[in-house]
Amino acid sequence: MPHDGHTDEMSHLSDVELRVRALESVLTEKGYLDPAALDIMIETYETKVGPRNGARVVAKAWSDPAFREALMSDATAAISSLGFTGRQGEHMVALENTDVVHNMVVCTLCSCYPWPVLGLPPVWYKSAPYRSRAVIDPRGVLADFGVTLPAETEIKVWDSTAEMRYLVIPKRPAGTDDMSEEELADLVTRDSMIGTGLALEPTGTRS
Ligand code: FE
Repeated sequence: MPHDGHTDEMSHLSDVELRVRALESVLTEKGYLDPAALDIMIETYETKVGPRNGARVVAKAWSDPAFREALMSDATAAISSLGFTGRQGEHMVALENTDVVHNMVVCTLCSCYPWPVLGLPPVWYKSAPYRSRAVIDPRGVLADFGVTLPAETEIKVWDSTAEMRYLVIPKRPAGTDDMSEEELADLVTRDSMIGTGLALEPTGTRS
């Protein structure tokens, strides 16, 4: 399946990506651009701005049964009904984590990622070790992320492609019955929507 050409080799970069890289080096060389500042901006889109959208989707699914049902049957439509649309978000599938099954997402070939709900992919998501180990040893990868699941929980690994992007709906933490959608969204981390993390406990510690 096609993966939009996001491979590690320069030769597989798109024309736009090559131009962006060339521009970045020229601007840095001439002193117009501070790579550290650029890293901070990218980090912001990786961890704050982007995943905020996904967190709102998850929080709504947790608190609104009709929305949850719509999301599970047609994630693309349900997500775009909240205004989150765009490139790499055209064919979304929602995967719900339960006591029985834990879903985890990878792109084994490159870095396919649901941009409209999660923003930019983190560096580790694009790394060769994650891409290969997620499939071979998902429990080991989860351990590296500090997540230990009961032995009886099945771990399902989903390979993203240009045709299909996945959003993991983490398990709703206990003790959150009285929380508003806004408060619930604060518990939904980026990693919990990739499946390499869990939603935060209301106290702020990992469940
Ligand atoms: Fe890919």
